[in-house]
Amino acid sequence: MNPLLTLEHVGFAYHQAEGETPALSDISFTLEAGHFLAIVGPSGCGKSTLLSLISGLLLPEEGRILLHGLPVREARANIGYMLQRDHLFEWRTVYTNVLLGLEIQHQKTPEKLQKVDHMLDSYGLSGFRNARPSQLSGGMRQRAALIRTLALEPDLLLLDEPFSALDYQTRLTVCDDIYEIIKKEEKTAVLVTHDLSEAISMADEVLVLSARPGCIRKRVPVKFDLANRTPMRSRSAPEFKDYFNTIWKELNDHA
Ligand code: ADP
Ligand code: MG
Repeated sequence: MNPLLTLEHVGFAYHQAEGETPALSDISFTLEAGHFLAIVGPSGCGKSTLLSLISGLLLPEEGRILLHGLPVREARANIGYMLQRDHLFEWRTVYTNVLLGLEIQHQKTPEKLQKVDHMLDSYGLSGFRNARPSQLSGGMRQRAALIRTLALEPDLLLLDEPFSALDYQTRLTVCDDIYEIIKKEEKTAVLVTHDLSEAISMADEVLVLSARPGCIRKRVPVKFDLANRTPMRSRSAPEFKDYFNTIWKELNDHA
């Protein structure tokens, strides 16, 4: 069986009139279905570029990216993208915001609508179906944005600093909420963040990128001896600080 996602020696540069900006160099890794990968690295090292390449918005200049063994644009895989800003529309209700993706793709089938209802119920938003986004807390907004993304049943979920607009306390709870949803829905995810703790608390593996052009400095598999792992419990597990120190050192030795 092919891994869900394979990157082989991927390189990319932005070309402008003033010259070129090498953004990524020789990135190789694989990701198995159901796994959670986090990518950390200094600001500007190419993390968002990497997600754009995986999603097929940009094409690699070197190397290749395969989904289920096929180049991204041929794979016809469904990729969900979640960003720092939730992009909920104020003129729509929570419910019609959540249905937006299905509406655009003409996929409002009874089964999909039922699944959306079920997610709104399970994840504490059914009482807010007719509310406007501004009536929700930051955490609820991110949950609504995730449900909108999941409604399209993506094979792969790309998360680009999805919590960085939230204050620290909200961020901790939202991390737990989003993690629970991703696990319950059995999704495969790539999270990009500059927050080490966030990466360690959520991921099965952390890739540490160097400064631009980003290349892989280190791969750190993360495992906690917890019966019921959540990001919050991981943060207070004894292994947490060892992972933190290892990754911190890796980032700073080369800074
Ligand atoms: P990160 O997400 O890790 O902060 P990015 O992937 O956004 O980094 O950017 C990597 C590098 O590429 C940065 O130096 C950035 O300035 C540059 N860059 C990003 N997007 C563009 C673009 N559209 N045109 C030119 N340079 C870009
Ligand atoms: Mg970025």
